[in-house]
Amino acid sequence: MGLSSVASFMQERLLAALASQRSAVDYLEIRLEQSEATAVAFRGRRLEAIDRSFDLAGGIRACHRGGWSFVTFNNLDELQSRVAEAVSQAKLVGDESTELAAVEPVTATVRVALGRDPRGVSLAHKRELLEHYNRLLLEADPRIQTTATSLSDRLRTVWFVNSTGTILEQERLDVTGRFGVIARDGSTIRQGFESVHSRTDFDALVGIEERVLGAAGRALRQLEAKPIPAGTYQVVLDPYLAGVFIHEAFGHLSEADFIYENPRMQQLLERGRPIAISALNVVDDGTVTGQPGTIAYDDEGVPTRRKYLIKDGVLTERLHNRETAGKLGEAPTGNARALGGTYPPLVRMTNTGILAGDTSFEQMIADIDEGVYAVRMLGGQTNGEMFTFAAAEGFMIRNGKIAEPVSDITLTGNVFQTLTDIEAIGSDQVWLSGGCGKGGQSPLPVAVGGPHLRLRNVVIGGR
Ligand SMILES: [Zn+2]
Repeated sequence: MGLSSVASFMQERLLAALASQRSAVDYLEIRLEQSEATAVAFRGRRLEAIDRSFDLAGGIRACHRGGWSFVTFNNLDELQSRVAEAVSQAKLVGDESTELAAVEPVTATVRVALGRDPRGVSLAHKRELLEHYNRLLLEADPRIQTTATSLSDRLRTVWFVNSTGTILEQERLDVTGRFGVIARDGSTIRQGFESVHSRTDFDALVGIEERVLGAAGRALRQLEAKPIPAGTYQVVLDPYLAGVFIHEAFGHLSEADFIYENPRMQQLLERGRPIAISALNVVDDGTVTGQPGTIAYDDEGVPTRRKYLIKDGVLTERLHNRETAGKLGEAPTGNARALGGTYPPLVRMTNTGILAGDTSFEQMIADIDEGVYAVRMLGGQTNGEMFTFAAAEGFMIRNGKIAEPVSDITLTGNVFQTLTDIEAIGSDQVWLSGGCGKGGQSPLPVAVGGPHLRLRNVVIGGR
């Protein structure tokens, strides 16, 4: 049996199951995911995992009078009865009205433009490659205590049909290398991390020794750095930290399910409201080529597009699934995403970032007498409009130049204040891969993007 006949077989099964119940509820969809994955992992010198898995499973969502149900299945023979179950459950909960934004029905097939297919690379070879990188890290310096490294790849095909006429088949490949180290000197312990991601090609993981060693370099430089004195500083964020800041502190607030449930945020996040310096542009863009958050159609069959969350400093759009768009009377954005076939779609980001401005890095630091250059992120948390981020690495800026490394850089602030405290936007925007967590679905592949960003009045809590 060839691939195409399998595909049409799957779609026919889903369409038949849908047809039996489509008029029983206001809305009905079936999503089926087939995935083939491998993963190899080391912890220190120990091989921790070497797995190959093959999965076929899916989920059914029904909506009736505003009430939703979600039922999973892992056997096509039980599909009819699972669909009936989803229908009766939705009818039990619904007592209002179903308001889904209208979307043009679409029939489409999306294929991966494969480079070197990871399915053609043996597990033994993947293990050898990872062992090589892992050993490089372990032997980089006597102060490296241990590592946590992995190579993984996952090729998925998702079939989707719904009661408004959309029929999709979408392939997706994720090839990922993750490299973490822990370095120690006396009682001081530091972490370093690097990740590499491709949507098309296993060879993205080959010949990346320098990037892998970057994880060790960051941890070792932090070991030698002195803790920064607490205070208020002028701060330059590197593109990665700027991107993570906009994802964590602002992107999640832009998710309309959050806004819909939060009256204070409905006021603060009113469209048309100036909320940042006028030079700031922030997008969520599922169309960027080859990034982790790039999709053709979301998990409700809605086409993705570029959305300006902030355009010229003004709040412009927010992120929707069909229901939040329908309820708030706004255009759908194609931001309903699920971690896998057996998870319900939630309002999620795709590739979210700050667009380039016009200031070079040299210009940005040239007139800073004493400031901080904060690089990458180790961890962080947000609480409504408040955020706290720990930079992975940092340096003092003195008399317009990068000076000695400093550690323990924890940045705290209010996102709305920070958006108006931006002093300069770099001309050097890049996209970097990341993972996002929400509602127990983690890590969802996303990209964060940013240029360098200069901020005033940033509170840094030192040790
Ligand atoms: Zn997130």
